[in-house]
Order: sequence, then structure tokens, then C-alpha cells
Amino acid sequence: MAERLETICIVCPNGCRLTAVRKGNVIEVSGNKCPRGITYAEAEMTAPKRSFTGTVASVFKEMPVVPVRTAGEVDKAKILEIAARTREILLTRAYAAGEVAEENVCGTGVALIVTTDMRKVTGRTEEL
Ligand code: SF4
Repeated sequence: MAERLETICIVCPNGCRLTAVRKGNVIEVSGNKCPRGITYAEAEMTAPKRSFTGTVASVFKEMPVVPVRTAGEVDKAKILEIAARTREILLTRAYAAGEVAEENVCGTGVALIVTTDMRKVTGRTEEL
């Protein structure tokens, strides 16, 4: 893991420019306007996490591409693997917003969920 990290805190709109430096077992953070920046920088330095947003394919010609996202944050290192996985998924029924398209996507323990109501767009509830 990095010994020094310069990053921008994305916890709130202030977007503080943070510098984190590892000194032994201690990580010193500067540039933060509040304690949440310390937590953010420490996580970025040790085990960075991100939410994934993307699309998957569906069988419906009215909606051939469907937006999805992870239900929570996953290890940043898994993002490319998840992106590759989404290119393999084909939805064969009209999902409601928030329904799980794939549990435990790429072994992250986090589900991939549909973020729009496909039934409204396609007018369908049954599989093709
Ligand atoms: S350090 Fe605090 S004030 Fe600055 S961006 Fe992060 S959460 Fe916002």
C-alpha cells in the first residue's frame, strides 16, 4: 500500500485536498476540514472502496440497455472485474427498480441491482 497519498475527499461537497502519510503504524492526514476526512484518507490508503455504476443488456428491444449499480461500496480493485461481468449479463424479464440482477457480484458480497423500473419502459412483466 502507498506510503503517501494525495487525494480529494469526496465525503462532502467541500472537496478538501488531503495528504496522507504513513509513519510506521500511524497514518497522518492533513488538509481535512473535519474528522471525516481522516477516516476517508485512511480508508483510501489501506482499503479503498467505490460504488460501481454501469449497464447490462436486456432482451427487450424497448430497453436494450439497463442501468445498474452495486448496492453498496466494493473494493476499488474489483471495479474492472465487475465491469467485465456486466458485459456478460442479459436480463430476460422486466425488473423493478432495486431488484437484484446478481447477488454477490464477483464475490464481493455486494449485490448488483437494477436502478430503473424496466416494467414502466417495456410495459412487460413476463419473460420473453
Ligand atoms: S474533510 Fe470533511 S469538510 Fe473536507 S470534504 Fe471531507 S467531509 Fe467534507
